[in-house]
Amino acid sequence: MIPSSFNRVHIDYDALRHNYVLLRKNAKESSFLAMVKADAYGHGMVECSRVLEANGCRIFGVAELREAVLLRQSGITSAIYSMIGFDHKDAGCFCEFDITPLAYDVPSLEALSRAAVKSGKNLSVHLKVDTGMNRLGVYLEGLQDLLDNVKRLPGLQLGGLASHFSCADDRESSSTSESLARFAEFQDIGSGESSLMYHIANSGGTLYFPESRCDMVRCGISLYGYYPEGRKNVEKEGLQPVMSFTTRVLQVKTVPAGSGVSYGHTYITERPTVLAVLPVGYEDGFSRRLSNCGEVLIRGKRAKIRGRVCMNLCMADVTDIDGVAAGDEVVVLGSMGKERITADEIAARIDTISYEVLCMIGNNNER
Ligand SMILES: *Cc1c(COP(=O)(O)O)cnc(C)c1O
Repeated sequence: MIPSSFNRVHIDYDALRHNYVLLRKNAKESSFLAMVKADAYGHGMVECSRVLEANGCRIFGVAELREAVLLRQSGITSAIYSMIGFDHKDAGCFCEFDITPLAYDVPSLEALSRAAVKSGKNLSVHLKVDTGMNRLGVYLEGLQDLLDNVKRLPGLQLGGLASHFSCADDRESSSTSESLARFAEFQDIGSGESSLMYHIANSGGTLYFPESRCDMVRCGISLYGYYPEGRKNVEKEGLQPVMSFTTRVLQVKTVPAGSGVSYGHTYITERPTVLAVLPVGYEDGFSRRLSNCGEVLIRGKRAKIRGRVCMNLCMADVTDIDGVAAGDEVVVLGSMGKERITADEIAARIDTISYEVLCMIGNNNER
């Protein structure tokens, strides 16, 4: 038997379900795509998709084709969209595994057509259009050519037009309405085609710009319990964080005032200090940038990280917490007693967003 790690990521499927129900309601008449790329933002693509599918979710989105195939092989029967293109030699997978491609150029359409003809199937393709993100997708002037090619190429059928917002996490930004207006121009060009599905809204669009929901919304971060703009507190009636991350105290030691802690002695104790050595480091997704600024929960109280975070270890100051002993549970992400550390809190300390914190922790530890 292989021993398990001290560190463990816990996934709260009740919270996932709660978020799904809340967002599903929010999306009103629109279809709902659950974004489960990056192993469901570190929460486990297969497990989360099973829970969501069991609760009525019928469309899933991933980034790469490889993820889509893995998801299909796990037994998910709902629609799966692969969002970011593919290696043309793999085009056959879309037919074999019944996956919906997003295409943004003619060579991809030709590869998809060859694959569709070969397999004798009709492949529904969505086109990715650029409404101001300046990431993947065609601009307005390129759309007609793609539409003509979908018509011309055998085995292809146009399923919809997709775009993506760059600033929908910011309710004040005018960029979302500008993108939406541009998307309407694409829709005008596409209006000659029958029953296309138009989709552009991510979590920000779904939550803050109701007019952007179109035929389908694509929610990622909000499913996992976080608001796209980041929020200080978790609200009772709102989204619920799904992931928590715990470890255990390895050793407790008392050092005199004036002692340097960890590599480089970047922290010098100002008083006799009790340190808890924790088996968590940057290899576990606990960023080295949390050196001298991170906090964890021990015995329901906050303890500051002292000195540099190492690859597999770090030290927390437990001088003001009574009775800490080796083996005590430590919460790195999540709640304990009245305290809670969110991915937004960690993200703010290291100048990133909850998305990255969840991926770093979730994808580097046993769940
Ligand atoms: C990641 C992603 C989403 C989901 O974004 P969230 O902000 O996590 O809701 C939607 N659409 C596309 C194309 C994406 O890449």
